[in-house]
Amino acid sequence: MAMPGTEGQPLRVAIVGSGPGGFYAAEALLESGLQVEIDLIERLPVPFGLVRFGVAPDHAKLKSVTTVFTQIAEDPRLRFFGNVEVGRDVSVRQLGAFYHAVIVATGAAGDRRLGIAGEHLPGVHAAGDFVGWYNGRPECADLEFDLQQEVAVVIGQGNVAIDVCRILASPVDALRRTDIAAHALDALARSRVREIHLVGRRGPVQAKFTPKELRELGTLPGWQPRVDPAALVLNDASQAELTMPGFVHAPRNLDILRGFAQTPTDDGRRALHLHFHRAPVALSGATRVERIELEAQALSGEPGAQSAAPTGERLSLPAGLVLRSVGYRGTPLPGLPFDLVRGALPHRDGRVIDTGGKVLRGWYATGWIKRGPTGVIGTNRADSVDTVA
Ligand code: NAP
Repeated sequence: MAMPGTEGQPLRVAIVGSGPGGFYAAEALLESGLQVEIDLIERLPVPFGLVRFGVAPDHAKLKSVTTVFTQIAEDPRLRFFGNVEVGRDVSVRQLGAFYHAVIVATGAAGDRRLGIAGEHLPGVHAAGDFVGWYNGRPECADLEFDLQQEVAVVIGQGNVAIDVCRILASPVDALRRTDIAAHALDALARSRVREIHLVGRRGPVQAKFTPKELRELGTLPGWQPRVDPAALVLNDASQAELTMPGFVHAPRNLDILRGFAQTPTDDGRRALHLHFHRAPVALSGATRVERIELEAQALSGEPGAQSAAPTGERLSLPAGLVLRSVGYRGTPLPGLPFDLVRGALPHRDGRVIDTGGKVLRGWYATGWIKRGPTGVIGTNRADSVDTVA
């Protein structure tokens, strides 16, 4: 019998998930020189995953990658099956029996929790749900976010945290020109949010956001970013990190934050406070969230590995709406192993492995479900090329 991937015996591959990881895996297979037949299986009725439902609506340029994905989808060797959920409509066992190879590219649809008192209170939400809501993600369409509250607190200092702050503070007329979901636009048009607190447990050098996104916070009409200059004083280890490879964005972030810190306070604009060295320790309220307790943090450890530890000093803030933006998390596929600590599929060089480290023949992973929720859309291209190789 001919080898799969040769004339008359195409390599049949299922790709589960049609976000960036899935599409880039399809592209790499189509360009591999092998005879391939690809079935792209998607839980939602429509493709593009995080590009469609995660990227902020006012970042249209980032979404233009769907043009590339559409070209990939037009290849006759690829079929798209929307509204098909692995574990509900088709099992892992069936996929393993029908295809030579299955590439799992399901991303990270879950969210990490803070693990603090009061997290269950109404008014406390995962930022990912808010993102899904304003992007029209079907399962988030009926969620309700109380934008009649005047003070919103966003926890975490990555780009998702910045996205949600910017959407909360953007003029509705600017959002009207985007593809934001109509229900979100209506609610944002009636928003009474006048104060936003963006809270990070470590310092400005360790913050995960990128300069372009941070700079945008300074361009929101009617809003003034505010930073306490004392929070920008660096310890020796943070100073050393500024020249380390893992901190390429830190020097520019620091410049932008120093600019924010110089703006005279209270010029009549609404305040967007950026807090550093503050970790949430409790949320409280009678029937819904009303306050958040923050505890001051001090950094310690070697450059590149500094962690935050409480100093004992506390700060209590009013908080009518709390969005925790502390990272996404992959969800298991029934029938496949799962690494609960990383929230991702255990793998070796892209091959799924079991708890004993043994390769599951024919099963592969790419994208966030493989390496965890880090990197930009383009990062998934190299990742998928590696897995397919
Ligand atoms: P992220 O970049 O990993 O940021 C997570 C943040 O949560 C970090 O500041 C982290 O602080 C903090 N955190 C984690 N656990 C916490 C806790 N228990 N208490 C307080 N803070 C906690 O994740 P993300 O913002 O969800 O973004 C995911 C990926 O998508 C990133 O690669 C991001 O760049 C990308 N993205 C890109 C764009 C864009 O290009 N415009 C937009 C959105 C997302 P520590 O560092 O101290 O852990």
